[in-house]
Amino acid sequence: MTRKNKTDSTLLDHKNSKVLRYVIVAVVIVVAAGLRIWPLGTLELRIPWVTFYPTVMATALYGGFSSGILATILSALVVYFWSPTELPFIDDPGDWLGMAVFCVNGTLISLMSEAMHRSRKQATQAKVQAEAANQAKSVFLANMSHELRTPLNAILGFTNLLRNAQEVPPDQLEKLNIISNSGENLLSLINNVLDISKIEADHMVKENADINLVQFLREIEALMSVKVEDKGLNFDLEISPDLPQAIIVDPGKLRQILTNLIANAVKYTEKGQLSLKVNVVKKESPGLVRLRFEMVDSGIGISEKDQRSIFSPFQQSGSQPATENGTGLGLAICKQFVELLDGNIGVVSNPGMGSVFYFEIPVSISSLSGKTFTTPHHERITGLADGQRHYRLLIAEDRMENRLLLRNLLEPLGFELREAVNGQEAVEQFKQWRPHLIWMDIRMPVMSGLEATRLIKEGEGGIETKIVALTAHALEEERLEILEAGCDDFIRKPYRDTEIFDALSKHLNVHFLYARDKVSTSATDKIELDEEQLKRIPADLIKNLQEAAELLDDQRCLKIVDEISLLNHDQGDVLRYMVEALDYREILAVIDSLSKKGLQ
Ligand code: ADP
Repeated sequence: MTRKNKTDSTLLDHKNSKVLRYVIVAVVIVVAAGLRIWPLGTLELRIPWVTFYPTVMATALYGGFSSGILATILSALVVYFWSPTELPFIDDPGDWLGMAVFCVNGTLISLMSEAMHRSRKQATQAKVQAEAANQAKSVFLANMSHELRTPLNAILGFTNLLRNAQEVPPDQLEKLNIISNSGENLLSLINNVLDISKIEADHMVKENADINLVQFLREIEALMSVKVEDKGLNFDLEISPDLPQAIIVDPGKLRQILTNLIANAVKYTEKGQLSLKVNVVKKESPGLVRLRFEMVDSGIGISEKDQRSIFSPFQQSGSQPATENGTGLGLAICKQFVELLDGNIGVVSNPGMGSVFYFEIPVSISSLSGKTFTTPHHERITGLADGQRHYRLLIAEDRMENRLLLRNLLEPLGFELREAVNGQEAVEQFKQWRPHLIWMDIRMPVMSGLEATRLIKEGEGGIETKIVALTAHALEEERLEILEAGCDDFIRKPYRDTEIFDALSKHLNVHFLYARDKVSTSATDKIELDEEQLKRIPADLIKNLQEAAELLDDQRCLKIVDEISLLNHDQGDVLRYMVEALDYREILAVIDSLSKKGLQ
């Protein structure tokens, strides 16, 4: 339908509904007039307007000003011309006054109803506009994230590849590390801003898992201990004895909340005591408890005015020391994560008297109590295991740099590769070459990755070919859309090498050779870090590892350990074992001792 036709038909609908409204008003007035004869006819001339007041009110509420006025005029005409007795209704000046009062009241009622109609219409319009603005924000967010992540994928990926090259001189290696670390920092900043925006646009999801609560809290205590000791503070973890052993919670979000609160307590306390208290406030139902976490410090405290704003993004208190830098995002993310976990967060504080940040969340008790909790394994891949078949992999990606990145990553391992620069080429290559797996970029010219996936999966042999989407999109809906199109898996850019290898193992059952296979005999004998060897690793790499270890971020730790391995295989392997064993305390202690001795 053309735009003009659409407008014409809307106008016609509007006109019809107006006519219908007036017809209804006329019918209602006739009914009201009839009621005066039966059953109210016995009242005769005493109250001629009795049935018309409610009628005017009802029609005005239903149809607005014009309906109310029409009802008022029709009622006045009926009263004037149609009397059920011999005598007219309107006779003496008193009757005329009654009629004038009725007309004024009818007009006022109509005006009020019209005002109500308008404000209801405005509220609906505002709601529609707000929804559209929110939607526009989500689209902007997805685009911004896509545009930032796509070049970051190339920057981080190629820096990694360059560092892997054997012949890189040490001074250049250091510069490459700086590029990589800056890229990582930029990525974490983008992720923080995205976290905030995603929650605001309702795109953040819970990722629940079973955890051993006490072990989880002890690990957080261990990793923060170096920071606490550096500042000469005391830290107490006070766990109530009735705490459940294993719970189901989103561990990533809970960890981020706790590490943010502890880091703030350390940051804003110069001397004294910090304690993290955890207890059960309520047993909600047999499998559900409400936990309360309290982070108590003896620091600078926060004024009542600032307490109201610090949970909003980019807000810092007036007493913020000039020496402390921060973005003002930490508490905002904490608040939104706590709310996502169906809890509430708050602060009790007095300037100069310390602060208590508390939050409560409901958690389910896990049936895994007593069982062991496994941690994922990530080891460096050095090649393909013997006896592997010949794998054909197709790279469908419009950006040359991203194609090259995958080629550089996979070709040396012995995979046969072909490339397609858009979805249509991908479909053609699939028909001719029947690859085992396709790395499918989603946003491509000519034909998108989603459409190409649909065509391939619907076609002959499509089911046997695995399709893994590689996308810089950040929103959860897109993940669903990608899986619905028929993709077997989904990897976000910028990706880690291991994510690509894990997908190959998962979907094609590819067996790799791991660095561990080569060092297993020597490394299991004696696993310890050597300060003398570590001091030769660039300081920013060590600092990055320290930050990642403090956040218990195993993925980031392993990525940095990969870089360290390139410079010193033995120390890299030892560090990898430690990260896999979650021995962050030892890693942090060694780094701490290194920095105290000024060796970095
Ligand atoms: P930032 O990155 O600035 O630390 P946050 O969102 O974590 O951002 O905190 C917001 C502000 O709240 C901080 O700038 C600080 O002024 C105040 N604040 C947070 N925690 C504490 C605390 N434990 N004691 C005193 N002030 C605090």
